[in-house]
Amino acid sequence: MKEEGKNSNAQVHNIRAAKSIVDTVKSTLGPMGMDKMMVDGGGNVIVTNDGATILRELDIAHPGGKMMVEVAKTQESLCYDGTTSTVVLAGQLLANSEALFEKGLHPNVICRGYHEAAQMAVKHLDKISHTAKKSDLDKILGNVAKTAITGKTLENALENVSALCVDAVQRAGDVDKVRVVSFPGGSLEDSYLFTGAIVNKDFVLEHDLQSTEEVLLINTGLEPEKIEENLQLQINSVESMQTYKMSGKNALIKSANKIIKALPDGGIVFVRDAVHDTVCAQLKKHRIGVIRRLPPSTMRTLSKIANTDILQTPDDIVYEGMPLKIERKKYNDVSYLFVTSHKHEHDEGTLVLRGATTHTLEEVERGFDDALGVVSLVVNDESYVYGGGVPYVAMSSYLRQHAAAIGGRAQMAIEAFADALEVIPATIAENAGHDPLDTVLAMRHELLQGNDTMGPDVTNGGVTDMKKAGVFEPTTLVRQAVLSASEVTTALLRIDDIIGRRPVE
Ligand code: ADP
Ligand code: MG
Repeated sequence: MKEEGKNSNAQVHNIRAAKSIVDTVKSTLGPMGMDKMMVDGGGNVIVTNDGATILRELDIAHPGGKMMVEVAKTQESLCYDGTTSTVVLAGQLLANSEALFEKGLHPNVICRGYHEAAQMAVKHLDKISHTAKKSDLDKILGNVAKTAITGKTLENALENVSALCVDAVQRAGDVDKVRVVSFPGGSLEDSYLFTGAIVNKDFVLEHDLQSTEEVLLINTGLEPEKIEENLQLQINSVESMQTYKMSGKNALIKSANKIIKALPDGGIVFVRDAVHDTVCAQLKKHRIGVIRRLPPSTMRTLSKIANTDILQTPDDIVYEGMPLKIERKKYNDVSYLFVTSHKHEHDEGTLVLRGATTHTLEEVERGFDDALGVVSLVVNDESYVYGGGVPYVAMSSYLRQHAAAIGGRAQMAIEAFADALEVIPATIAENAGHDPLDTVLAMRHELLQGNDTMGPDVTNGGVTDMKKAGVFEPTTLVRQAVLSASEVTTALLRIDDIIGRRPVE
C-alpha cells in the first residue's frame, strides 16, 4: 500500500536530473579516475579531473541538477576537496530512495531516516578517526597531500608537490595565507616554495641590481599636491608663472632629496602610489631605483620581509634603508622582482608553480588548491582517517548493525543509507577496472576480521592496506561529505512540485 502523499512527479524528475549529473563526474573519482575535456561554444577548452570544476562549468538547466552543483561548491569551499565523493554519494542516496518509494515509503520517512543515519554515521566516524602525533605529523600531512593529488596531473611530481604543500601550510599556519603564482614553461618538478615577496613590477627607469639593496618603503605617492578647493589664481607676469611652477617642482625635489639622504647610491624605494617623473629623474641621478604603484598587500609583505615599518611620507624618514636581496626574473617576457631578506627567513611563502602550458597549469593550480586545503584541515584539528573509502565501509557496517534498534520504517531508510555509503570504494575500484562488488565484499570481510585499514587495491584489484600505502584523508572532509550529501538528498526529496516563478526584477 502506498503511503499518503503527493504523486512524486517532481521527485522523479529531480532524481533523474541529479543522477545524470552524477554520471558525468562518477568516472573521475579516485586515483584511476579519468579526466574530462570541456568545450564551450567559443571553442575554449579545459581539461580537468576536479569534480567541482566540472560541475561549475556544466551547462545545467534542471533545478534538481543545480542543487547538486551547489552541494559540490559547498564541499569545495569548506573542505577544498572531496567534491566528487559528495556528489556520487548524494546520487546513490537518491537512487536508493527511489527503491524505497517503490516499497511505499513516504518521502518524509526517508528524510527522517537519512537524517538519523547521517548523524549516527558521523558519530561513528569520530570514533574511528585518528589523532596525528606531533612526531608523525609531517609524514601524515605528506600522505594527506599525496592522497589528494593522486590521479591528477600533479601525480607526476608526487613527492615534490606534497612536500611543498606541507611546507607552505606549516610556515603560513593557514591555507589562506599561502600565495600561489604560476608561470607557464618549465616542468612541474621546477615548482618551488619562495619565502619572500614576488613583485610583478619593474623599475620606472632602468636600474642595475646589486647583491644587496638598501630599501625604503613609502605609503603615499610622490606627486605634486592636488588642490582640493575651487581656487582661482591670478598670475600676471612670466616670472611669477615660473616661480609658481618651480614651487611645485621644488617640493618634489625636496622629497626626492630626503630619500637620497636616507639611501646610499644604488638604493631602491618602493612606493604604494604614483611617483612623478621629476622625482624619478632626481633619484636616478643618485642611481636610486623607483618601483611605484604597489598594491597594499605587497607593501605589507615587503615590510615583513625587511622587518621594518612602511613610512607614510618621505618626511617620516627616521631610519636608513633596510638591506634586501632582489633578483629579477623574466617569465613570458614579463619581469618580476623576487625579494628576500638576508637576515631572517620569512614565514609566509609563495608557491611558484611551473607547467608547460596554460591548460596544464590551470589543472596544476586546482590540484595544489586541493592539496593545500586538505593539509590545512589536518593542521587545524590533527584528525585523519584512511582513504579509499575505508571510513565509508566502517560507517556502513555500523549503521547496519544499529538500524534494527531504531525500528519502524525509518530502519529501512537507514539500511538504504548504509548501502549508499559503499558506493565510494565501489566506484574507486570500478574506475580502476576492478569489480566493485567483490571489492566492497572483501572490505566488509576484512573489517569483520578486525582489519580496519583495508581499501581497494587500484593496481592489482582486491584489497590492500591503506595505512601502508599512505592513503590518508582529513576526518573533516569525510564528515562534511556525508553531511552535505545527506542534506542535499533530503532537500531534493522534500520537493513535491516544481513551479514556475516570476523572474527576479
Ligand atoms: P574527490 O573529488 O571526492 O576528492 P577524487 O577523484 O580526488 O575525488 O578521489 C578521492 C578518493 O580517492 C578518496 O576516497 C581517496 O581516499 C581515494 N584515493 C586516493 N588515492 C588512493 C589510492 N592510492 N588507493 C585507493 N584510493 C585512493
Ligand atoms: Mg580529491
